[in-house]
Amino acid sequence: MKIEMVDLKGQYVHIQQEVDEAVLSVIREAQFINGPQVGSFANEFSEYLDGAQVISCANGTDALQIAMMALDLKPGDEIIVPSFTYVATAEVIGLLQLKPVMVDVDPDSFNITADTIRTAITSKTKAIVPVHLFGQCADMEPILALAKEKGLYVIEDTAQAIGASYTFSDGTVKKAGTIGHIGCTSFFPSKNLGCYGDGGAIYTMDSNLADRLRMIANHGQVKKYVHKYIGVNSRLDTLQAAILRIKLRHLDTYSTARNAAAEKYDSIFNGVEGLVIPKRQSNSSHVFHQYTIKVTGGRRDELKKYLEQAGIPAMIYYPIPLNEQEAYQTIGRVVGDLSITKDLCSSVLSIPMHTELTDDQIKFITDSILSFFKS
Ligand SMILES: *Cc1c(COP(=O)(O)O)cnc(C)c1O
Repeated sequence: MKIEMVDLKGQYVHIQQEVDEAVLSVIREAQFINGPQVGSFANEFSEYLDGAQVISCANGTDALQIAMMALDLKPGDEIIVPSFTYVATAEVIGLLQLKPVMVDVDPDSFNITADTIRTAITSKTKAIVPVHLFGQCADMEPILALAKEKGLYVIEDTAQAIGASYTFSDGTVKKAGTIGHIGCTSFFPSKNLGCYGDGGAIYTMDSNLADRLRMIANHGQVKKYVHKYIGVNSRLDTLQAAILRIKLRHLDTYSTARNAAAEKYDSIFNGVEGLVIPKRQSNSSHVFHQYTIKVTGGRRDELKKYLEQAGIPAMIYYPIPLNEQEAYQTIGRVVGDLSITKDLCSSVLSIPMHTELTDDQIKFITDSILSFFKS
């Protein structure tokens, strides 16, 4: 049986006709940059995001960089990030001569919490970047309250959580990326809303910030040949926008399919000794960008190898804490011992999770994992 970590071909087959027609029409119209599909996608995505303004850009890393560039920060200002995340989150901070301050995460949600963030705040702190890791929102209500108290910006890295939503204690529901000041996302092919190349977006409910973000993404330009800011050249191309318009219509169905697979995994793994299933937070939905188990007893690498021999891919997101990366030894600051991150790096394993998983595939994967733990 052929098992993939992410089955993009299988997904394409179901939308082939729509995608082929859209791609061909872009080629025939030959407006490869800033064609009408780019604006249409931004409008449709804005509607999906309950009215947030959407600025599309070239990738998720650029989205984070553009967000940081829009905030009047100066070299040495501190930005709080999780030590357990993809490098892009901290990389753009380093690139802009800001200081990434790395804090530990919650062992169940894999996300940063207001309590740990509070211990990291100094007079130089300017912003917090919660990363909604693996598809579930960080606990945003206390984070927003802390940010307000201290006058900090909140930039959400929602590259893994497009479509997730967070419920406040008063019942208000907000989509990931529209909760803080700015949301940043990626349309990398394997992301939950992936295009067929690179792409990204920045969103905000604040129209002043939106204007500035839009200018920065486009050479800091107010109008043609008039430049108000130092910006970058970061664009989503028309072909990708045309593909994203189609996939956006399927996004909620895709999230449902991921949740159905996750529930099957949960029900089979629940109670298996040596394995901890991902914990659901009560105030966030989960869009399962990854289904990540924790393997106890130091057997993670052994399980990964066992699965590979059975033809089942599994990935370690992430094997090395950010603070242990060579590039971050000198530019960053670490708060606490980051022992949870260290534990997670040696115990997490993400198993196949995508929109096309069949019951037979799930049975093959879970049978194999169960037989490992019985042996
Ligand atoms: C994928 C990802 C990014 C970067 O997105 P790119 O489009 O690859 O630049 C940033 N942060 C997180 C958490 C991601 O998963």
